[in-house]
Amino acid sequence: MLQQYEPTQIARWLEEKLLENFGTDPQTATPKQIYKAVCYVLRDIMSELWLVNHNIADSHRNKQVYYLSMEFLPGPSLKNNAFNLHLEDAFRQALASIGQDFARITAMEPDAGLGNGGLGRLASCYLDAIAAKGMAGHGMSICYEYGIFRQKIEDGEQTELPDEWLNMGDVWLITKEDQTEEVHFGGKLEEIWDANGRLRLIHKDYTTVLAVPRDMLITGYDSDVVNTLRLWQAKSPITIDMKLFAEGKYLQSMEEKHMAEVISKILYPEDAHTEGKLLRMKQQYFFIAASMKSLVKRHMMKYGTLDNFSDKVAVHINDTHPTMAIPELMRIFMDEYGYEWDQAWDIVRQTVSYTNHTVMPEALEKWPESLFKETLPRLHSIVSEINRRQSVDLMKTYPDNEALRRDMAVINNGELRMANLCVEASHTVNGVSSLHSGIIRDQLFAGFSAIHPEKFTNVTNGIAYRRWLCQANPELSELIVSLIGPGFKKDAMELERLMAFTEDRGVFTRLEQIKRRNKERLADYIKEHNNIMVDPDSIFDVQVKRLHEYKRQLLNLLHIIHLYAEIKRDPGADIQPRTFIFAAKAAAGYYMAKQIIKLAYHLAQVINNDSQVNGRIKIVFLENYSVSLSELIMPAAEISEQISLAGKEASGTGNMKLMINGAVTLGTEDGANVEIHRAVGDENIFIFGLRVEDVERIRREGSYSPFRLCQTDGDVNEVVQFLSQGVNGQYFSNILNALTTGYNGCADPYFVLGDFGAYRDAQARAAAAYRDRDRWNRMSLINIAKAGIFSADRAVQEYADRIWHIEPLK
Ligand SMILES: *Cc1c(COP(=O)(O)O)cnc(C)c1O
Repeated sequence: MLQQYEPTQIARWLEEKLLENFGTDPQTATPKQIYKAVCYVLRDIMSELWLVNHNIADSHRNKQVYYLSMEFLPGPSLKNNAFNLHLEDAFRQALASIGQDFARITAMEPDAGLGNGGLGRLASCYLDAIAAKGMAGHGMSICYEYGIFRQKIEDGEQTELPDEWLNMGDVWLITKEDQTEEVHFGGKLEEIWDANGRLRLIHKDYTTVLAVPRDMLITGYDSDVVNTLRLWQAKSPITIDMKLFAEGKYLQSMEEKHMAEVISKILYPEDAHTEGKLLRMKQQYFFIAASMKSLVKRHMMKYGTLDNFSDKVAVHINDTHPTMAIPELMRIFMDEYGYEWDQAWDIVRQTVSYTNHTVMPEALEKWPESLFKETLPRLHSIVSEINRRQSVDLMKTYPDNEALRRDMAVINNGELRMANLCVEASHTVNGVSSLHSGIIRDQLFAGFSAIHPEKFTNVTNGIAYRRWLCQANPELSELIVSLIGPGFKKDAMELERLMAFTEDRGVFTRLEQIKRRNKERLADYIKEHNNIMVDPDSIFDVQVKRLHEYKRQLLNLLHIIHLYAEIKRDPGADIQPRTFIFAAKAAAGYYMAKQIIKLAYHLAQVINNDSQVNGRIKIVFLENYSVSLSELIMPAAEISEQISLAGKEASGTGNMKLMINGAVTLGTEDGANVEIHRAVGDENIFIFGLRVEDVERIRREGSYSPFRLCQTDGDVNEVVQFLSQGVNGQYFSNILNALTTGYNGCADPYFVLGDFGAYRDAQARAAAAYRDRDRWNRMSLINIAKAGIFSADRAVQEYADRIWHIEPLK
């Protein structure tokens, strides 16, 4: 049972925090000081729970999972923590008693944006669910000083502004200087024979960087288990070079310090793309080395041996970014604890599991061997040995298939292939939706799965649904409580009981009213931030996610052009009014993605201001998509655009957040859309377009010709013609070229035009369905009712049972 506190008690603590930290009181404190004091009080309550748990976990000797991820995207924490611990009302009242408003205070919180998008958000959703399930599971990552950039759009151009989240966000971080670890880079290896006549490798002349843990406490709903997200911050062991300083070379005297500390400066803003930069490699090793050292040390202190390591520790690798955990654990076991290779390898293999997040070649990490060797010589020698042993095994298994052996190799052609290393060394490999898991098993890693079919499994992604339903959409949450009771807040499968109301028009009306109020709230935000008036009675059609060609925001825009052309042809056309809402960050160096943002912007300028359109269609591009913005958008959405090219979106999780808020999916048979389709049935989703098999067949046959499509489909021709004439005086020749003639000889690689006709028809079906209010509201209700399986609680339970083999603490 969670302890509850009196508002008067909390108010007293608030006053103490204000005095102790800022020398002020409720009457004179600034809003920022109030905000910080509120967080400190809550953090103390969390710390107490954390301490109790920590002791229980120690005495019970439970197995614990460490979730390694280069990215976490917690978003705002204050409201979430208060909600999880049932302290919202107490804080609201305490603040009211000193003349403050809880909602205003929570709105001040900056997002902790230590991730790019879906992958990082998934990691945070899982930490939330692990704590809610009462399990011991901790995240490990980097304490980036600058998180994902703040996006501004100026005249259609994206600019990136630094995200100095620590200014306000550091209230959640507890710095544990005493648990600082050393990380070694560069240097050289020396072979020596030790007293027992064993050959040992000694790593010398390396550079040291310190890793300082800054822990964020993680709560789960209605749970007294509080876990840790450990974020490592880089610090130089040298503050200043006294010799250079004495010579008057002041700037140089601090150079080494800066070189070390730059490691945790900034999150790389690439989503589903790798660049192979030295700094990125250093970031990876930095957080992995510190994490592995700290958890081996902890284990030794508790058990005095590493023989039982894999019985007590599960290490999970979230995408390939933390792959270095594999050779690093080998290094620690062999070099620091004297294990032989085979013993060490057995333990590591029983400890490590890996989730693959993408099959796109540009996102599969590869490191140039020379760079790796120079930066991490000892790790390189270990990976080389893994590769050597693998190639011996492969010669036995696939003696006649050199191409396959090359495909599977950990090192090939001067490159280290992290995905292959993960599969080679992990006891379990999973994809993130049933479609995606099939693709990795049968295609990407087919050679591995033929040898070890038991290694491969699926865990479909899930979301921390309470954030997007209970917290972000309180009215809907209350309606659901009134219909089926509050049990769904702990067991999302209970939402299914809403199926008893699929003919209840009273419920439809209430659903519609709630949606309408959420739409008004979003409309106000749009008015304030974009200065666009949108009609809350129009369909709110939403595509919010990272900007990527495979996600096909462009397909959405081409369809809008099509609608616009229809209106221009027949100004009186009976078109269902629609507001197309986009939000998406583009990687800073991703030219095409930025062009697509620019197109959206100029198209909006034309369409939103055309008197003939008369407000029937509007385009809104919201800046700076983030967790907090998603919490405003999801509750107001009616159509959920999930229109990636089949086979490209591993799962998607935005689709789940929208579904549970009653939006109806308009999407391809891709990622988790397939499972959403299966859950709600044909009647309650709009599925269109090429399927994975179609895409593969067309690619094989080489029969795809967007040029021919332009000649045969009048609508395709019309939108391409429209684009070629420029939009708002801007020309988009690169987009046009990509669509029609292509770069690298491959025209329209994401089949935007190939799927256009099917998309247009699906959009027409959706618009028609929307006019039938009962039908639409029923669809919306069924989507909510069937969203339970997409909960992170379910996903985490599957990981716990089938992969990590961990149980709740008590
Ligand atoms: C959920 C979420 C994503 C992932 O969206 P997809 O549609 O699954 O790509 C990205 N960014 C933020 C801020 C999110 O909350």
